[in-house]
Amino acid sequence: MAGVTDILGHREVITQLWDALERGTSHHAYLFEGPRGVGKRTVANRLAMASNCEGPAPTPCGACRPCKAIEAGTHPDVLALEPDPSRASPIIPVKDVREVIRRSGYHRYAGRRRVVIIDPAEALQPAAANALLKTLEEPPEGTGFILIASHASALLPTIVSRCQRVRFGPVPVPALRDWLQSQGKGRVAEQAAALSLGCPGRALELAGSGLRKRLATRDQVLEALQGDTAARHDLARKLTAGDRAKWSAKVNTVLEVLEDLLRDAALHAAGRGPLLNTDRPEVVEHWARALWPGGLARCAQAIEDSRRSLQVYVTGRTVMDALLATLSRELGR
Ligand SMILES: [Zn+2]
Repeated sequence: MAGVTDILGHREVITQLWDALERGTSHHAYLFEGPRGVGKRTVANRLAMASNCEGPAPTPCGACRPCKAIEAGTHPDVLALEPDPSRASPIIPVKDVREVIRRSGYHRYAGRRRVVIIDPAEALQPAAANALLKTLEEPPEGTGFILIASHASALLPTIVSRCQRVRFGPVPVPALRDWLQSQGKGRVAEQAAALSLGCPGRALELAGSGLRKRLATRDQVLEALQGDTAARHDLARKLTAGDRAKWSAKVNTVLEVLEDLLRDAALHAAGRGPLLNTDRPEVVEHWARALWPGGLARCAQAIEDSRRSLQVYVTGRTVMDALLATLSRELGR
Protein backbone atom coordinates (compact mmCIF):
# COMPACT_ATOMS: atom_id res chain seq x y z
CA MET A 1 0.00 0.00 0.00
CA ALA A 2 1.29 3.41 -0.84
CA GLY A 3 -1.15 5.89 0.67
CA VAL A 4 -0.15 8.14 3.52
CA THR A 5 -1.98 6.46 6.38
CA ASP A 6 0.67 3.72 6.53
CA ILE A 7 3.43 6.26 7.16
CA LEU A 8 4.42 6.17 10.82
CA GLY A 9 3.90 9.49 12.60
CA HIS A 10 4.39 12.94 10.99
CA ARG A 11 0.64 13.61 10.83
CA GLU A 12 1.06 17.40 11.03
CA VAL A 13 3.72 17.49 8.35
CA ILE A 14 1.65 15.29 6.05
CA THR A 15 -1.50 17.36 6.56
CA GLN A 16 0.40 20.57 5.81
CA LEU A 17 2.06 19.20 2.64
CA TRP A 18 -1.03 17.49 1.27
CA ASP A 19 -3.29 20.49 1.94
CA ALA A 20 -0.88 22.68 -0.02
CA LEU A 21 -0.79 20.12 -2.83
CA GLU A 22 -4.57 20.01 -3.02
CA ARG A 23 -4.87 23.78 -3.04
CA GLY A 24 -2.09 24.09 -5.63
CA THR A 25 0.06 26.10 -3.24
CA SER A 26 2.98 23.69 -2.80
CA HIS A 27 6.26 25.48 -2.20
CA HIS A 28 8.78 25.07 -5.02
CA ALA A 29 11.57 24.14 -2.60
CA TYR A 30 11.04 22.23 0.59
CA LEU A 31 13.75 21.45 3.10
CA PHE A 32 12.86 18.29 5.02
CA GLU A 33 14.84 18.30 8.26
CA GLY A 34 15.00 15.61 10.90
CA PRO A 35 17.15 12.79 12.21
CA ARG A 36 18.39 9.97 10.00
CA GLY A 37 15.79 7.24 9.49
CA VAL A 38 12.84 9.31 10.74
CA GLY A 39 10.94 9.02 7.45
CA LYS A 40 11.86 12.11 5.42
CA ARG A 41 12.65 10.24 2.22
CA THR A 42 9.49 8.14 2.50
CA VAL A 43 7.35 11.26 2.76
CA ALA A 44 9.27 12.89 -0.13
CA ASN A 45 8.63 9.86 -2.36
CA ARG A 46 4.94 9.77 -1.46
CA LEU A 47 4.64 13.49 -2.16
CA ALA A 48 6.19 12.95 -5.60
CA MET A 49 3.70 10.12 -6.13
CA ALA A 50 0.77 12.21 -4.96
CA SER A 51 1.87 14.98 -7.34
CA ASN A 52 1.76 12.61 -10.31
CA CYS A 53 -0.81 9.91 -9.40
CA GLU A 54 -3.55 9.21 -11.92
CA GLY A 55 -5.99 8.32 -9.15
CA PRO A 56 -8.68 10.70 -7.94
CA ALA A 57 -7.63 11.49 -4.39
CA PRO A 58 -4.65 13.56 -3.27
CA THR A 59 -3.42 10.39 -1.58
CA PRO A 60 -1.27 8.37 -3.98
CA CYS A 61 -2.94 5.12 -5.08
CA GLY A 62 0.32 3.20 -5.41
CA ALA A 63 -1.14 1.16 -8.26
CA CYS A 64 -1.17 3.43 -11.33
CA ARG A 65 1.76 3.65 -13.75
CA PRO A 66 3.29 6.88 -12.41
CA CYS A 67 3.01 5.66 -8.79
CA LYS A 68 4.69 2.37 -9.66
CA ALA A 69 7.45 4.05 -11.64
CA ILE A 70 8.17 6.49 -8.81
CA GLU A 71 8.24 3.66 -6.27
CA ALA A 72 10.72 1.82 -8.52
CA GLY A 73 12.79 4.98 -9.05
CA THR A 74 12.32 4.92 -12.83
CA HIS A 75 9.92 7.83 -13.40
CA PRO A 76 11.56 10.26 -15.85
CA ASP A 77 10.15 13.32 -14.06
CA VAL A 78 11.13 12.37 -10.54
CA LEU A 79 14.86 12.91 -10.27
CA ALA A 80 16.97 11.91 -7.30
CA LEU A 81 20.23 13.73 -6.71
CA GLU A 82 22.29 11.48 -4.47
CA PRO A 83 25.96 10.76 -3.80
CA ASP A 84 27.42 8.12 -6.06
CA PRO A 85 27.61 5.04 -3.77
CA SER A 86 30.70 3.74 -5.57
CA ARG A 87 32.72 6.79 -4.62
CA ALA A 88 34.75 6.97 -1.44
CA SER A 89 33.26 10.20 -0.14
CA PRO A 90 29.54 10.95 0.00
CA ILE A 91 29.47 14.05 -2.16
CA ILE A 92 27.14 15.38 -4.83
CA PRO A 93 29.45 17.02 -7.38
CA VAL A 94 28.63 20.19 -9.26
CA LYS A 95 28.36 18.34 -12.60
CA ASP A 96 25.45 16.27 -11.26
CA VAL A 97 23.65 19.42 -10.15
CA ARG A 98 24.16 21.02 -13.58
CA GLU A 99 22.77 17.91 -15.24
CA VAL A 100 19.62 18.00 -13.10
CA ILE A 101 19.17 21.72 -13.77
CA ARG A 102 19.53 21.03 -17.50
CA ARG A 103 17.00 18.22 -17.35
CA SER A 104 14.55 20.23 -15.29
CA GLY A 105 14.44 22.73 -18.15
CA TYR A 106 13.05 20.06 -20.50
CA HIS A 107 9.43 19.37 -21.19
CA ARG A 108 8.01 16.95 -18.74
CA TYR A 109 7.62 13.46 -20.14
CA ALA A 110 4.51 12.17 -18.54
CA GLY A 111 4.34 13.80 -15.17
CA ARG A 112 2.17 16.63 -13.99
CA ARG A 113 4.90 17.86 -11.72
CA ARG A 114 8.61 17.26 -11.88
CA VAL A 115 10.13 16.59 -8.48
CA VAL A 116 13.84 16.75 -7.74
CA ILE A 117 14.82 15.04 -4.48
CA ILE A 118 18.26 15.90 -3.09
CA ASP A 119 19.26 13.35 -0.46
CA PRO A 120 21.22 14.17 1.61
CA ALA A 121 21.54 17.88 0.90
CA GLU A 122 24.60 17.97 3.18
CA ALA A 123 26.43 16.08 0.43
CA LEU A 124 26.20 19.08 -1.92
CA GLN A 125 29.69 20.47 -2.33
CA PRO A 126 29.96 24.26 -2.00
CA ALA A 127 30.26 24.65 -5.78
CA ALA A 128 27.27 22.33 -6.28
CA ALA A 129 25.20 24.26 -3.73
CA ASN A 130 26.08 27.55 -5.40
CA ALA A 131 25.11 26.17 -8.81
CA LEU A 132 21.72 25.30 -7.38
CA LEU A 133 20.92 28.69 -5.84
CA LYS A 134 19.42 30.40 -8.85
CA THR A 135 17.29 27.42 -9.81
CA LEU A 136 16.03 27.11 -6.23
CA GLU A 137 14.97 30.71 -6.32
CA GLU A 138 13.20 30.49 -9.65
CA PRO A 139 12.65 26.88 -10.61
CA PRO A 140 11.33 25.99 -14.07
CA GLU A 141 7.54 25.93 -14.29
CA GLY A 142 6.11 22.75 -12.80
CA THR A 143 9.29 21.69 -11.01
CA GLY A 144 9.57 21.31 -7.27
CA PHE A 145 12.63 20.57 -5.14
CA ILE A 146 12.78 18.57 -1.94
CA LEU A 147 16.06 18.83 -0.03
CA ILE A 148 16.58 16.25 2.68
CA ALA A 149 18.89 16.93 5.61
CA SER A 150 19.64 15.48 9.05
CA HIS A 151 21.69 18.52 9.95
CA ALA A 152 20.43 21.65 8.25
CA SER A 153 23.10 23.61 10.14
CA ALA A 154 25.63 22.05 7.75
CA LEU A 155 23.95 23.66 4.71
CA LEU A 156 24.78 27.03 3.19
CA PRO A 157 22.47 29.66 4.73
CA THR A 158 21.68 30.86 1.21
CA ILE A 159 20.29 27.40 0.39
CA VAL A 160 18.24 27.19 3.60
CA SER A 161 16.74 30.66 3.14
CA ARG A 162 15.38 29.70 -0.28
CA CYS A 163 13.47 26.72 1.08
CA GLN A 164 10.37 26.22 3.15
CA ARG A 165 11.59 24.29 6.17
CA VAL A 166 9.59 21.25 7.20
CA ARG A 167 10.68 19.69 10.48
CA PHE A 168 10.22 15.98 11.11
CA GLY A 169 9.90 15.19 14.80
CA PRO A 170 10.31 11.76 16.39
CA VAL A 171 7.66 9.08 15.96
CA PRO A 172 6.16 8.15 19.38
CA VAL A 173 7.90 5.13 20.90
CA PRO A 174 4.68 3.08 21.49
CA ALA A 175 3.74 3.43 17.80
CA LEU A 176 7.22 2.30 16.82
CA ARG A 177 7.12 -0.65 19.18
CA ASP A 178 3.75 -1.81 17.79
CA TRP A 179 5.03 -1.40 14.26
CA LEU A 180 8.17 -3.44 14.99
CA GLN A 181 5.98 -6.12 16.54
CA SER A 182 3.85 -6.20 13.39
CA GLN A 183 7.09 -6.74 11.43
CA GLY A 184 7.83 -9.85 13.47
CA LYS A 185 10.47 -8.16 15.66
CA GLY A 186 8.55 -8.72 18.90
CA ARG A 187 11.48 -9.96 20.94
CA VAL A 188 13.56 -6.79 20.68
CA ALA A 189 10.74 -4.37 19.82
CA GLU A 190 10.72 -2.60 23.19
CA GLN A 191 14.44 -1.84 23.42
CA ALA A 192 14.91 -1.10 19.71
CA ALA A 193 11.97 1.32 19.76
CA ALA A 194 13.37 3.13 22.81
CA LEU A 195 16.90 3.38 21.41
CA SER A 196 15.74 4.53 17.98
CA LEU A 197 14.86 7.99 19.33
CA GLY A 198 11.69 7.96 17.28
CA CYS A 199 13.24 7.01 13.94
CA PRO A 200 11.59 4.02 12.22
CA GLY A 201 14.57 3.42 9.93
CA ARG A 202 16.88 3.33 12.91
CA ALA A 203 14.49 1.11 14.90
CA LEU A 204 14.40 -1.44 12.10
CA GLU A 205 18.17 -1.44 11.87
CA LEU A 206 18.44 -1.95 15.63
CA ALA A 207 15.85 -4.70 15.63
CA GLY A 208 18.05 -6.60 13.18
CA SER A 209 21.62 -7.24 14.29
CA GLY A 210 22.02 -3.51 14.96
CA LEU A 211 21.32 -3.59 18.68
CA ARG A 212 24.08 -6.03 19.55
CA LYS A 213 26.55 -4.22 17.29
CA ARG A 214 25.59 -0.87 18.69
CA LEU A 215 26.09 -1.90 22.31
CA ALA A 216 29.45 -3.43 21.36
CA THR A 217 30.50 -0.15 19.72
CA ARG A 218 29.40 1.83 22.75
CA ASP A 219 31.40 -0.38 25.11
CA GLN A 220 34.45 -0.09 22.88
CA VAL A 221 34.22 3.71 22.97
CA LEU A 222 33.69 3.75 26.74
CA GLU A 223 36.73 1.56 27.24
CA ALA A 224 38.89 3.90 25.14
CA LEU A 225 37.60 6.93 27.04
CA GLN A 226 38.56 5.28 30.32
CA GLY A 227 42.02 4.49 28.96
CA ASP A 228 45.03 6.68 28.22
CA THR A 229 45.97 8.74 25.16
CA ALA A 230 47.32 5.66 23.39
CA ALA A 231 43.99 3.84 23.83
CA ARG A 232 42.12 6.75 22.27
CA HIS A 233 44.57 7.04 19.34
CA ASP A 234 44.20 3.35 18.82
CA LEU A 235 40.40 3.52 18.65
CA ALA A 236 40.44 6.55 16.30
CA ARG A 237 42.81 4.67 14.01
CA LYS A 238 40.73 1.49 14.04
CA LEU A 239 37.47 3.36 13.47
CA THR A 240 38.71 5.24 10.43
CA ALA A 241 40.83 2.58 8.72
CA GLY A 242 40.43 2.31 4.95
CA ASP A 243 38.45 4.74 2.81
CA ARG A 244 35.37 6.67 3.76
CA ALA A 245 32.94 4.19 2.23
CA LYS A 246 34.32 1.72 4.75
CA TRP A 247 34.34 3.83 7.89
CA SER A 248 31.51 6.30 7.40
CA ALA A 249 28.71 4.16 8.90
CA LYS A 250 30.90 2.98 11.78
CA VAL A 251 31.92 6.50 12.73
CA ASN A 252 28.33 7.65 12.47
CA THR A 253 27.30 4.97 14.96
CA VAL A 254 29.99 6.19 17.35
CA LEU A 255 28.65 9.75 17.13
CA GLU A 256 25.15 8.46 17.78
CA VAL A 257 26.06 6.36 20.81
CA LEU A 258 27.91 9.37 22.24
CA GLU A 259 24.83 11.53 21.71
CA ASP A 260 22.69 8.87 23.40
CA LEU A 261 25.04 8.91 26.40
CA LEU A 262 24.90 12.71 26.63
CA ARG A 263 21.14 12.60 26.41
CA ASP A 264 20.98 10.06 29.23
CA ALA A 265 23.40 12.10 31.34
CA ALA A 266 21.22 15.19 30.91
CA LEU A 267 18.04 13.30 31.83
CA HIS A 268 19.69 11.63 34.79
CA ALA A 269 21.06 14.94 36.08
CA ALA A 270 17.58 16.42 35.83
CA GLY A 271 16.10 13.39 37.61
CA ARG A 272 14.12 12.36 34.57
CA GLY A 273 13.86 9.37 32.28
CA PRO A 274 13.46 6.94 30.66
CA LEU A 275 17.10 6.31 29.88
CA LEU A 276 18.49 4.49 26.87
CA ASN A 277 21.63 3.01 28.40
CA THR A 278 19.81 1.19 31.20
CA ASP A 279 22.41 -1.59 31.19
CA ARG A 280 25.23 0.81 32.18
CA PRO A 281 23.80 2.93 35.04
CA GLU A 282 27.25 3.58 36.52
CA VAL A 283 28.40 5.20 33.25
CA VAL A 284 25.33 7.42 33.00
CA GLU A 285 25.81 8.44 36.64
CA HIS A 286 29.46 9.33 36.05
CA TRP A 287 28.73 11.30 32.85
CA ALA A 288 25.96 13.24 34.59
CA ARG A 289 28.21 14.13 37.54
CA ALA A 290 31.21 15.07 35.39
CA LEU A 291 29.41 16.99 32.66
CA TRP A 292 26.40 18.67 34.19
CA PRO A 293 25.68 21.36 33.17
CA GLY A 294 28.26 23.11 30.95
CA GLY A 295 30.17 20.03 29.85
CA LEU A 296 27.07 18.52 28.26
CA ALA A 297 26.65 21.46 25.91
CA ARG A 298 30.35 21.56 25.10
CA CYS A 299 30.43 17.83 24.31
CA ALA A 300 27.29 18.06 22.18
CA GLN A 301 28.88 20.93 20.28
CA ALA A 302 32.10 18.94 19.81
CA ILE A 303 30.11 16.06 18.29
CA GLU A 304 28.23 18.43 15.98
CA ASP A 305 31.51 20.06 14.89
CA SER A 306 33.07 16.65 14.26
CA ARG A 307 30.14 15.63 12.12
CA ARG A 308 30.61 18.73 10.00
CA SER A 309 34.38 18.24 9.73
CA LEU A 310 33.93 14.61 8.71
CA GLN A 311 31.96 15.78 5.67
CA VAL A 312 34.94 17.81 4.55
CA TYR A 313 38.09 15.93 5.54
CA VAL A 314 39.26 12.97 3.56
CA THR A 315 40.65 11.24 6.61
CA GLY A 316 38.47 10.96 9.66
CA ARG A 317 41.24 9.96 12.01
CA THR A 318 42.31 13.42 13.19
CA VAL A 319 38.68 14.43 13.69
CA MET A 320 37.88 11.38 15.83
CA ASP A 321 41.16 11.75 17.71
CA ALA A 322 40.30 15.33 18.63
CA LEU A 323 36.73 14.43 19.60
CA LEU A 324 37.80 11.59 21.90
CA ALA A 325 40.41 13.88 23.52
CA THR A 326 37.76 16.54 24.19
CA LEU A 327 35.34 14.04 25.71
CA SER A 328 38.04 12.48 27.82
CA ARG A 329 39.09 15.89 29.13
CA GLU A 330 35.50 16.88 29.89
CA LEU A 331 34.93 13.60 31.69
CA GLY A 332 37.87 14.46 33.91
CA ARG A 333 40.23 11.71 32.83
ZN1 LIG B 1 -1.29 6.42 -8.40
